[in-house]
Amino acid sequence: MTNNHSKASSSPVEIAEKAGWDVIVVGGGMVGATAALGLAQQQFNVLLLEQYEPDLSWSTQQPYQVRVSALTRASENILKALGAWPGIEARRCHAFTDMHVWESSSEAEVHFSAADIHQANLGHVVENSVIQAALWEQLLAHPSVTIRTGDEVVDLSLTSQGAEVFLSNGESLLTQLVVGADGAASKTRQLAGIELTTHDYHQCAVVGCVETELSHQNTCWQRYQADGPFAFLAMPDNQSSIAWYLPIEKMQWALALSDEAFAEAITEASANKLGQVIKVGERGAFPLIRRHANHYIQPHFVLIGDAAHTVHPQAGQGVNLGLLDAAALIDTLANARQQAPEKDWSRRSVLRRYERWRRGDNVIVQRSMEGFDWMFQQDQSVKNKLRSKILPLANQATPIKNWLMSQVLKGREVLPSLAQ
Ligand SMILES: Cc1cc2nc3c(=O)[nH]c(=O)nc-3n(C[C@H](O)[C@H](O)[C@H](O)COP(=O)(O)OP(=O)(O)OC[C@H]3O[C@@H](n4cnc5c(N)ncnc54)[C@H](O)[C@@H]3O)c2cc1C
Repeated sequence: MTNNHSKASSSPVEIAEKAGWDVIVVGGGMVGATAALGLAQQQFNVLLLEQYEPDLSWSTQQPYQVRVSALTRASENILKALGAWPGIEARRCHAFTDMHVWESSSEAEVHFSAADIHQANLGHVVENSVIQAALWEQLLAHPSVTIRTGDEVVDLSLTSQGAEVFLSNGESLLTQLVVGADGAASKTRQLAGIELTTHDYHQCAVVGCVETELSHQNTCWQRYQADGPFAFLAMPDNQSSIAWYLPIEKMQWALALSDEAFAEAITEASANKLGQVIKVGERGAFPLIRRHANHYIQPHFVLIGDAAHTVHPQAGQGVNLGLLDAAALIDTLANARQQAPEKDWSRRSVLRRYERWRRGDNVIVQRSMEGFDWMFQQDQSVKNKLRSKILPLANQATPIKNWLMSQVLKGREVLPSLAQ
C-alpha cells in the first residue's frame, strides 16, 4: 500500500471521529454507480468520486453508442431493485429472445431460445451510457449520496482503523471504506498495492452499431471463424451492435477502413447472415487483456468490477460480473452492520466474506472464456473436426442447453439479494 504524500496521515482515532462518509466509491461507471446507489439505499452515507462529468442529456435522436452491454436477468434484477430500470426502458434497450452460434468451416450451429426455458427473453442489449445515466438519475436524487466530479485521487492511506483519500487539489477525505470501482486501469488498485495477474489475448474487439438489410429477428448471432468470433447483438430499430474480434495487428486496419469498405468487411465476416450491412455508425476498438487482481481487499479498501477483473467479452459477461460484485458487497456490508451494530462493519473478516463470495465466480467465467478461445480461435484440423461434431451434439442436447441458458441468464453462484 502506498503512502508517499508529504502530509502526515490522521491517527485512527481522528479517522473514526472525522469520517465524513461511511463509504467513498471511486469511479462512477456502471459498477461504481450501482454500488454507491445500493449502499445509500442501505443507509450508508456515500461519497462518489468520478473523474469525468458524464453527459446525462438524452434524446431518442441520439446516434447509437459504440459501447453496449448484453445484460443478464440477474443484472436486470439488480437495476430493477435499485429503481434504475425504468430509466433504462424510458431511454433505449432491446430484449433478445434467441441466440445463434455457428462455426464458419462446417456451418455447424447451436440455437438457444428463451421459449425453450419459458422465459420472455434471454437478456437485454443496452448502451453503457444509458445504464450509467439511469443510475446517476437515481444517485442525484438520493439524500445519502454526495457526488464530486473532476477531482483526481492521488494517494490513499489505509490503516487498521479507516482510510484517508488524498485528492489532487490538496484535500484529504476520511472514510471507513474506500471502494475502488475505477475500471481496468484502476489507480486505487495501484495505490492500495494490489498486484494484477494478466494475460494478453493479442486480440482486439472492433465495436459499433450497424443497420442490416435483413431483420435481426430479436436474435444475437455469433459466428466463430479463424481470426476470432464475430457477433451481431440485436438493438432497437433493426440496428445491431457488432463485436468483431481480430488479431491485434489488424486493429488499425479495421479502424482506418472507409465506411463502405467496413460495411463490406462486416458483411463478409458475418457470412451475409443478415444480408448486406447497409449503414455503419461510429466505431471503436479495444485491445483484449484478461486481468485479475491478486486480492480484492486491503484494510478498509475493496475492489469491484473491472478494477478487480476483466474477461474476454465474447460471452458478454464483464459488467454482469461487476454488478454481481456490487450487489454482493452491498449484502455483505449491510448484513455485517445489522448483525453486529457495535462492531466495525468494514473490518477485514467482513471484507474477506465479500472476496470469497465473488472471486470464485469471476475465476470460473474467466477460465470458461479461455476454453472458448482454445476451441474456436485456431483453425487446426483436429479442432475443426471436434467443433463440427460438438456443436450439432450440443444443439440436440436440450436439457444441457436449457441448463446453460438458465445459468447464464440468472448467474451461477449464490445470488446476492438484489439479483434475485
Ligand atoms: C468490446 C467490449 C464489449 C463488451 N461487451 C460486454 C457485454 O456485452 N456485456 C457485459 O457484461 N460486459 C461487456 N463488456 C465489459 C464491460 O464493458 C465492462 O466490464 C464494464 O464497462 C466495467 O464497468 P466498470 O464500472 O467496472 O468500469 P468502467 O466502465 O471502466 O468505469 C470506471 C469509471 O471510473 C472512472 N475513473 C477511472 N479512474 C478514476 C479515478 N482515478 N478517479 C475517479 N474516477 C475514475 C472512469 O471515468 C469511469 O467512469 C465489454 C467490454 C468490451 C471491451
